[in-house]
Amino acid sequence: MVSELKNPQGKKLDYVMNNLSEQEVEEIRLLLKEVGLRCTSARLTVIQELKDAATPVTHAELADKLVPLGFDKATVFRNLVDLAEVGLLRRIELGDHVWRFEWIAREVDADEHPHFLCTVCGEVACLRDLALEIPKLTSVDHFGEVTEILLKGQCTKCLAPAG
Ligand SMILES: [Zn+2]
Ligand SMILES: [Zn+2]
Repeated sequence: MVSELKNPQGKKLDYVMNNLSEQEVEEIRLLLKEVGLRCTSARLTVIQELKDAATPVTHAELADKLVPLGFDKATVFRNLVDLAEVGLLRRIELGDHVWRFEWIAREVDADEHPHFLCTVCGEVACLRDLALEIPKLTSVDHFGEVTEILLKGQCTKCLAPAG
């Protein structure tokens, strides 16, 4: 219930109330309980933003959106890290030294998927319908563990002729 939230004051709570249905709040609350985290307005908001995002989100992008609503930048970051640690978010690094976070969809079996990085504008896309399995090659042993499949190229916007 929204009324049980810690620090349920001001703008932040308005934001939660206006953007999340009671059912969404309840679902997230149960998930947080399962992983042993308190249900705060910041966690609720961070989770909902990531659930709604079509592509992985950086801390900067999320902070740009949430800081004007009254959330603290450091709190947003700590929540991203905490949620990744308990396995609700996936933390992705695509070679540009920026951590991106994405919601791990529980509805989909084996939600792991490759990502596409545009080398021109840096846009990232999830390739959920591309089944690329990490091959079980003996040569992989040499590198330890493959954790990410990354495809690079140019997105449709960057490929389009200028003008
Ligand atoms: Zn691009
Ligand atoms: Zn993804």
